[in-house]
Amino acid sequence: MENNKRRRFLKLGLTGFALGLIKPLKAGEIISSSFEGASNGPVVLSTWNHGLAANSAAWEVLNKGGSALDAVEKGVRVTEADITNRSVGIGGMPDRDGHVTLDACIMDHESRCGSVGFLEGINHPVSVARAIMEKTQHVMLVGEGAKAFALEQGFGTIKTPIPEVKAEYKKWKSENKNLFKKPEINNENHDTIGMLALDQFGNLSGSCTTSGWAYKMHGRLGDSPIIGAGLFVDNEVGAACATGLGEAIIRIAGSHTVVELMRQGYSPSEACRMAVERIISKHKDLTGLQCCFLAIDKNGRVGSYSVYNGFNYALKTNGFEGMVDAPFNRKW
Ligand code: ASP
Repeated sequence: MENNKRRRFLKLGLTGFALGLIKPLKAGEIISSSFEGASNGPVVLSTWNHGLAANSAAWEVLNKGGSALDAVEKGVRVTEADITNRSVGIGGMPDRDGHVTLDACIMDHESRCGSVGFLEGINHPVSVARAIMEKTQHVMLVGEGAKAFALEQGFGTIKTPIPEVKAEYKKWKSENKNLFKKPEINNENHDTIGMLALDQFGNLSGSCTTSGWAYKMHGRLGDSPIIGAGLFVDNEVGAACATGLGEAIIRIAGSHTVVELMRQGYSPSEACRMAVERIISKHKDLTGLQCCFLAIDKNGRVGSYSVYNGFNYALKTNGFEGMVDAPFNRKW
């Protein structure tokens, strides 16, 4: 309720800023889900609350005139390095066999992209994805091959699961004797950081990194390392990323769909809503099935939408730093 008092509706976009019609937002202010404005400068946005710290790191790059590509890598590395984060990076939850397998990807304004999946014991999957993009002729490496490449490139290693996570896993295992039952579809047991940025040159890039669905089957990949599902960037149009149940996002090539809808003239918010509606139309049972999209267009307008309530994202522009609640199709 308290938050509601601080919400305000902003429907004006870039033009509003340019004409001075929009007052700069105050740091930490919570704004309404119909936000479609942006600033006349760099923009960075990322999924969930952990996006605040990640955005700050990305902003350091953008504010100094750095590239969106450097910003989206530096930003999500903060989340990957946070050992208290149970859904991204080295502090992530394991699969049902006790392995923490990490997925990440990155894409830039020239449609270059790199992706890594099923990576174990390496500190920064997003940087491995970038190295794959920049140093190999491939887009995607997975598993042992990806790890060998990362080691060859000098990436740091870490033993996972970290002790705290191992303890949680042991408890889960003792309470879930039937380990080979289907992994539970439950929005509480997965998250991702997806980040999108627009730099001062007008270029877009994005990144996405996760430990995926906790207690997933060994070998499972979600949407996050899949270009077009967890992330897509087309510098002529816009960029989008996803969080939520990867299997549902892959089914509609989610982030690509959002970008293509923006190409057809839909706003970032409309494009995210239409992609979510498509997911809904393809699933008979939506129990526990949360999926959320974030998007930015070439002009810096941003938008989001989710199946259920509860999704929010961190946004930073010249005039605003804070969380934005996403509009949604239905309530839990
Ligand atoms: N999309 C991720 C996955 O399916 C999880 C999430 O973002 O919640 O692995």
